[in-house]
Amino acid sequence: MEKYDVVVVGGGIAGSVAAKFSAQKGFSTLLLEKCQTPRNKTCSGIQFPYMGRLIGEKIPREVLCENELSRVEMVLPSGKTVRGRMKMLNFWRSTFDSWLNTVAVRGGAHFCDDCRLVDVEVEKAGIGLQVQQGDRKRSISTRYLVAADGYDSSVRRNLRPQDFAGKASGATLNYYIAGDAKMDPNALYMFYDRDFSPLMFAWVYQKDGQWVVGTGADAHLLDYAQRFLGHVRAKYSLRGKILREEVFTSPMDTTVFLGNGHILMTGDAAGLVDLYRGLGMDNAALSARLAVKAIIRSSRTGKPPIESYRRLTGRIWRKMERNAKRQATRYATNETLERSLSLPRLARDGVFMLAAAQANRVLPPERIIMLPL
Ligand SMILES: Cc1cc2nc3c(=O)[nH]c(=O)nc-3n(C[C@H](O)[C@H](O)[C@H](O)COP(=O)(O)OP(=O)(O)OC[C@H]3O[C@@H](n4cnc5c(N)ncnc54)[C@H](O)[C@@H]3O)c2cc1C
Repeated sequence: MEKYDVVVVGGGIAGSVAAKFSAQKGFSTLLLEKCQTPRNKTCSGIQFPYMGRLIGEKIPREVLCENELSRVEMVLPSGKTVRGRMKMLNFWRSTFDSWLNTVAVRGGAHFCDDCRLVDVEVEKAGIGLQVQQGDRKRSISTRYLVAADGYDSSVRRNLRPQDFAGKASGATLNYYIAGDAKMDPNALYMFYDRDFSPLMFAWVYQKDGQWVVGTGADAHLLDYAQRFLGHVRAKYSLRGKILREEVFTSPMDTTVFLGNGHILMTGDAAGLVDLYRGLGMDNAALSARLAVKAIIRSSRTGKPPIESYRRLTGRIWRKMERNAKRQATRYATNETLERSLSLPRLARDGVFMLAAAQANRVLPPERIIMLPL
């Protein structure tokens, strides 16, 4: 039987970051990824520059798209447009996550792609794992398990099957289009209108010459997506054919669940995606860092890490709870949406954002202020 101090399941953002820090701290660490890498993940791949500080690495220019994003345009239900400047990172998840996998390996982790976790059993002496690697089955024992296996987490299914009993809470659809548009390739366009999405803003941005037009909904997704695409084509003279369509849906109840005993849930597997901000990669990276911190404490005290992890992640999940309430109020009607995005509010938020972006350059990674506010 193979033995590790820490096994991390999922080679996305949370998993690679957890594996890197865990290995750097001297724990024998195995990072498992079920797909062959580089693997794609449905995601806009947009983040703030503080992401590098959360990961603890300088992000190389070559893992980013050719076109940088430096502006936002927010289109309100009334049609009013508010423009602002904000430096963002723009990347394809396949490229970015592959680089992160190499960061984990450089940190000292063993990385196994095409390695799927199929079973977890908590035993007296540790945690027993069954892993399928191609045709081969591997039995692995570990002291700590970090679940970073995303929205269809097999670890969460194992611990809390009830979280997978209902229907999907929502879905997204992206159209990738090659063609011209009267839009700025360096801007992120956010459309706040319940006709385009009843859950969050609908989006348009460019990645290396491809326009991505997408939206999310809890029902009738295709109607919303087609209406929104029609609007973008008409208003911004978007031409060109659809290269591909990408649907994403999650079978998991997305309430926050942080784990049990020696098993810690991170990122999307823990339910830490923030719909109000439209982001989840920063929470994934931060929760991964904090999981390793809790493991370090546990290895010193001999106590299970879960309580310490719960305390350490308090800032993340409290903000998630606050933002979920704000999201429900904001999206009640187009009138509430318009009010929540009034010019005085946006101006005030803009000033806070600029101040926070400056502060984030020097704040310790664990105190970084997640944006947008
Ligand atoms: C349409 C859309 C747009 C988004 N846009 C943004 C954005 O612009 N910015 C942002 O910050 N966030 C965005 N998000 C959210 C973001 O994608 C997630 O929050 C982020 O990917 C979470 O990272 P993670 O590491 O927790 O999970 P993931 O990135 O999902 O990684 C989980 C990994 O685990 C692997 N895995 C799963 N099961 C197993 C198993 N049994 N064994 C081994 N490996 C397994 C998967 O293959 C995957 O590689 C978006 C999400 C969607 C759906």
